[in-house]
Amino acid sequence: MRLPPRQVAAMTMSRRATSASRSSASKDRADLSQPLRSIPGGTSSHVGSHPNSLGAAAAAETATEACVLCGAEAATPLFAARDRLHGLPGQFWIVRCARCALLRTSPRPTGSALSAYYPDDYAPHREAGHERGGSAPGAGSPLRDRLRRWLGTRRIWWIPDLPPSARVLELGSGSGHFVRVALARGWEVHALEPAKGPAARLARYACVHVHQEPAETLDLPPASLDAVFAWMVVEHLQNPPVVLRKIRSALRPGGYFVFSVPNARSWEFAVFRSRWYALDVPRHLWHFTPRTLARLLGASGFRVERVFHQKVLKNLTGSLEYLALDRPTLAWVARALERALTPPWVSFTLGAALAAARQGGRITVVARAADG
Ligand SMILES: [Zn+2]
Repeated sequence: MRLPPRQVAAMTMSRRATSASRSSASKDRADLSQPLRSIPGGTSSHVGSHPNSLGAAAAAETATEACVLCGAEAATPLFAARDRLHGLPGQFWIVRCARCALLRTSPRPTGSALSAYYPDDYAPHREAGHERGGSAPGAGSPLRDRLRRWLGTRRIWWIPDLPPSARVLELGSGSGHFVRVALARGWEVHALEPAKGPAARLARYACVHVHQEPAETLDLPPASLDAVFAWMVVEHLQNPPVVLRKIRSALRPGGYFVFSVPNARSWEFAVFRSRWYALDVPRHLWHFTPRTLARLLGASGFRVERVFHQKVLKNLTGSLEYLALDRPTLAWVARALERALTPPWVSFTLGAALAAARQGGRITVVARAADG
């Protein structure tokens, strides 16, 4: 069920709006001495053109605040953030768990309150898809293909060499771009896509097994899968440890779990903070670093085999755009930088340099189901 913006606002404004509005991104510095629970998780700020209301529906659909990874309740607030992609109302904080350092969005909307942050025009759900692979030169210009060969692939995807009899699952299939790639390899493809529109489009493929439930409730037979893929999905999950344990159980011994996530250990995160394109609150509920990912994977029965830093600058150009929107005086600088980054040779070279320095804004992780 999709809710009107007013109701979403009320739901996400569940916490007491005690202090003055902290709506502006320029006021995104929290008092670090305050414990998390004293922070107003929602304020009565206007965001975009949507009205804001603290009505009866403010009986919040938000998750409890204990860390899903270690159970600790204490956390340090880093900065305030809002939905910049769609301009939907709600004020959120990025907080760091005091024990395990996992970064999370707080408060964390759930259920229909969260669904409302995935409007029909949410790009990854559109038919054309937004995230292209990078395992092979595409249909780009000859110059682009030559540069790709020179610098290597962008390594957005990493696909194991499995036989045609393999059975694989993709979490969050969205537009179905990767599903088509998997089908082309002759694999038995299972696609999990909770969103109604994309799930209906995936169902057009007679040979694809479409699962429409949330990943947390997916029922998978033990040791039945050879690989599970999740491209820019784990940060959206309500409860990553629960889902990863399910995946581990569903994989055959040595099976692959390959996924990509934004990298909150990157310089982009440190510099742009609430304007970081890949922050994408409140859709991104978790903001992983290689260290917190390693802890999550280890606790879920995986061993990390490889971590690739993607050679893409999408986060950087998107963050510059947000900066230009926020700071008119800096807009010309931000836009000039965006233009400078546009030529393929610039984006490839800078992307490759950042990846080599392990400072990519997005990482791809190859994990294997550990024995025992
Ligand atoms: Zn923790």
